[in-house]
Amino acid sequence: MSLADLSDEIAAVVGEDACIRDPERQSAFVVDWRNLVRGRTALVALPSTTEQVSAIVRLCASANRPIVPQGGNTSLVGGATPSEEGNEIVVSLGRMNKIRAMDPVADTITVEAGCILRDVQIAADNGGRYFPLSLGAEGSCQVGGNVSTNAGGHAVLRYGNMRELVLGLEVVLATGEVLSKLRGLHKDNTGYDLKQLFVGAEGTLGIVTAATLKLFAQRRQVETALVAFKDLRKLMDLLADVRAHCEEFLSAFELLPRAGIEMALEHVPGVRDPMAKVFPYYALVELSSSQVYVPLRGAMETLLAGMLDRGLIEDAVISASQQQAAELWHLREACVEAQRVAGPSLKHDVSVPLGAVPALIIEASAAIAEAFPEVRIVPFGHVGDGNVHFNVCIGRRQDAGAFMQSAERISGLIYDHVARLDGSFSAEHGIGRMRVDELHKYGHRLDLSMMRAIKATLDPTGLFNPGRIFGTASETGVRAKRRA
Ligand SMILES: Cc1cc2nc3c(=O)[nH]c(=O)nc-3n(C[C@H](O)[C@H](O)[C@H](O)COP(=O)(O)OP(=O)(O)OC[C@H]3O[C@@H](n4cnc5c(N)ncnc54)[C@H](O)[C@@H]3O)c2cc1C
Repeated sequence: MSLADLSDEIAAVVGEDACIRDPERQSAFVVDWRNLVRGRTALVALPSTTEQVSAIVRLCASANRPIVPQGGNTSLVGGATPSEEGNEIVVSLGRMNKIRAMDPVADTITVEAGCILRDVQIAADNGGRYFPLSLGAEGSCQVGGNVSTNAGGHAVLRYGNMRELVLGLEVVLATGEVLSKLRGLHKDNTGYDLKQLFVGAEGTLGIVTAATLKLFAQRRQVETALVAFKDLRKLMDLLADVRAHCEEFLSAFELLPRAGIEMALEHVPGVRDPMAKVFPYYALVELSSSQVYVPLRGAMETLLAGMLDRGLIEDAVISASQQQAAELWHLREACVEAQRVAGPSLKHDVSVPLGAVPALIIEASAAIAEAFPEVRIVPFGHVGDGNVHFNVCIGRRQDAGAFMQSAERISGLIYDHVARLDGSFSAEHGIGRMRVDELHKYGHRLDLSMMRAIKATLDPTGLFNPGRIFGTASETGVRAKRRA
């Protein structure tokens, strides 16, 4: 069946107003967030029910045309963007944005996959509960995308990744059948936990249409502080100190290097230097509690005074108001935004065992600085989870072409260090289309062959997201079959 005929058949299912065929109106769906990956598609379909998703899947399967499931299109690895060939149908879940139910007894919320993360947080809050997943893209990313990338973010330290927050899923399989696991059971040991297969699968195994998520007690007190320190080798002593004194309240621990703050001050309006003196490193520490009776401010003050006494930190600021706390978090997010405006940058979202975080940053930074003295190195992020966004940005006076020519060697240096420290080259963002080669180089043979076996069982014709995760070899095979 031609793409035009398939598009007509899909339009008959979802309605012409839920189909975008005009390339001029497709740009939000065919270009990724960083404007690095551009694709083409004959059709963006916007189904509004699970039955419509199922019908689209059956039509695409019988026409042998692959599907790219898409949420908010904030993937940082090009996972949600269709290929340049234009033969993939984009199924965007944005219209499936209903909150289906909130269960105060089970403490769960059941939402459709196209719900924007911020809207889920607000719905939980309106119901007197708290949904903890929080990340920079929360105003755009959707629950289906969060599930499919096993999103992490700021609060993993306390509440876990999306995997820990998902109690149930509804998924449309490659056959068009609907796997419905939305019962929200806290215990269910009837064989394999099938829903978990789809968490972090990056849309390669099925289309998530709804999720039942765990809720928690609302945060009634939050204390946010920025601490400054000189010696990166003490980073984990600092974290251990926070844990030793305030473990049950700790909800975020983020690293900010001076280089990131300098870039934020230069490129993002409204950012202020947080302290009178300048230090090489800062950590954003957040304590929170659902109790109103706990003296959380006192706990934070005692903690910081102790850290100063113990020589772990040089200086600290505690936010005096919600506004100041928001400013500290804005500083953290401004580091990301600044890198976007400052010119080309190489993003590496890596993790190592907690104790190896300082060694990774110190050793890999030294190797990069020696080989490429012009670049700016900005390792920051969720170090409380062992996760470092090890970004390398173009130098002030560096030529963009020369910088991009060094890209492969810079990334190789970082990934080799990560591998030596027994870490992961992709901690949060997944593989998508951009990290396929790294998976082949650094992934374990047995892991890969088990993943391929699962893919072959659940999606034998390669209907969903060809080329993502598994990459070129299998993708070419699938495409060759399709062309034939
Ligand atoms: C500013 C910024 C900050 C970020 N911070 C973080 C962070 O702290 N932690 C983190 O983990 N990530 C972060 N990300 C990455 C990204 O936001 C997350 O991966 C997010 O979970 C993706 O959600 P999305 O709806 O945009 O998914 P998309 O980008 O649309 O899709 C991501 C992948 O999931 C698949 N997919 C999407 N929806 C479905 C579905 N319903 N069923 C099946 N497959 C589907 C797509 O095919 C694709 O492979 C950040 C991104 C940005 C731009």
